[in-house]
Amino acid sequence: MESPGSGDLQFRDIPPVDRILTSINHHGVPRPIVTHFVRQFLEEIRSNLKNVDQAARKAYPSDSSAIMSEVENRIAKLAQTRLRTVINGTGVILHTNQGRAPIHPDVMQHIAEIGTTYSTLEMDITTGKRGRRGAYAEQLLAGLCGAEAATIVNNCAAALVLILKQLCGKPEANEVLISRSELVQIGGGFRIPDILMTSGATLREVGTTNRTTIKDYQSAISPASAMILKVHQSNFYMDGFVENPTTQALAELAQTHKIPLVFDLGSGAVTDTSQWDGAAHEVTPAEVISNGADLVCFSGDKLFGGPQAGIIAGKNELVSALKKNQFFRCLRADKLVIAGLEWAASAWLTDPSKGHSASRAAGLCALTTQDLTARAEAIAQQFSSHRLKVSIVTTSSKMGGGTMPRAVLPSVGLSIQYPGLTPDGLTQKLLKATPLPVVAHIENDQVIIDLRTVFPDQDEALTEALMHTESS
Ligand SMILES: *Cc1c(COP(=O)(O)O)cnc(C)c1O
Repeated sequence: MESPGSGDLQFRDIPPVDRILTSINHHGVPRPIVTHFVRQFLEEIRSNLKNVDQAARKAYPSDSSAIMSEVENRIAKLAQTRLRTVINGTGVILHTNQGRAPIHPDVMQHIAEIGTTYSTLEMDITTGKRGRRGAYAEQLLAGLCGAEAATIVNNCAAALVLILKQLCGKPEANEVLISRSELVQIGGGFRIPDILMTSGATLREVGTTNRTTIKDYQSAISPASAMILKVHQSNFYMDGFVENPTTQALAELAQTHKIPLVFDLGSGAVTDTSQWDGAAHEVTPAEVISNGADLVCFSGDKLFGGPQAGIIAGKNELVSALKKNQFFRCLRADKLVIAGLEWAASAWLTDPSKGHSASRAAGLCALTTQDLTARAEAIAQQFSSHRLKVSIVTTSSKMGGGTMPRAVLPSVGLSIQYPGLTPDGLTQKLLKATPLPVVAHIENDQVIIDLRTVFPDQDEALTEALMHTESS
């Protein structure tokens, strides 16, 4: 009698857990987790066998060796989900799927040093008594933004929520004035109108999608107004019949009505990004502060170069109030973040025009096509007589991470071809390469590895990965 899939498997054929554990490859997964997976799988098989409705039985292995190989497959799949380094050949500099901003090794070294020892995190070294947490980092960040004060929270989304909770705390005055052009979604599930609502603020929409004037803001102001919020259009752009008031005009209006003007800037560009070929100038925190904003928040990673964090800078009175908010304790940055931002801020202040020793992403943006061509040639020439064809192509890199969507940085890539493999098949194969997986992208039916986002010290690994792809 045939039952679908379960073959002739009997209860007595199910191998004991211990035997499976000693027979299969654990793929580096800790033993208790492997044990859990084995038990869970055997349980599935038993309940499948117990199912009296034979037709409902699923296709489970039909003998003990099939059980072993299936459970090993599951362990291998689990092992594939662990974090590991990849070679980013997509040309997307802040790639959300691939960890957004890579952190500069110097920043990481400071993080490692402070993280692995005791430190002066909350100690005044001159007295040995309690000191202010992150005081130096805050001082540097304030300086970098030309602001009176600054502080750090877990991420920019948290910064915005904290600001809203603090400034919109009074039920009789909790309205946030925001242009209809800025009711945007930033990344997965972060929607400005929803964030406002969950923070207890009331949304007061101003203007239209494409045009918002200072008069629109003016006529929306009332005793219920708590703040004016400007959200930087960081992941999309509008063109054509578009208008927005200047920061100065908004600051004047805010001041007249004694409500704060707050900017969510997102990307954290603290340098003139127009120095990069293909990129326009991105407004900086220092610019909005000098134009009269009361508070500004931006991400500590993205272009800034630190670990994930939200930086808030602005008026002393407002920053102090934020730090006293009960909610601040829940969003407080840990010592690793503080150490990283302290180092990155210091590097930016030392080298304000480039910050290459602060931000790895900024360093990638600054690479020229000449820099990249030499590397492309060195790699391509090693494949001159191979079945895997590697040719040099011009391509373009993007900022990614919801940052500077219009920037198109001229770049150089390797176009990869392999006889008999479609572009999709080849990109899949590159993901399985050793020593490191290679994430390529397809452009006009061509598989391309953009060298801008491949670190020079990965060129050798990339060459090896291509050789491996050819031979496997
Ligand atoms: C990226 C971004 C955020 C979110 O920053 P996280 O650090 O990811 O929380 C918020 N606002 C703007 C405008 C952004 O670009």
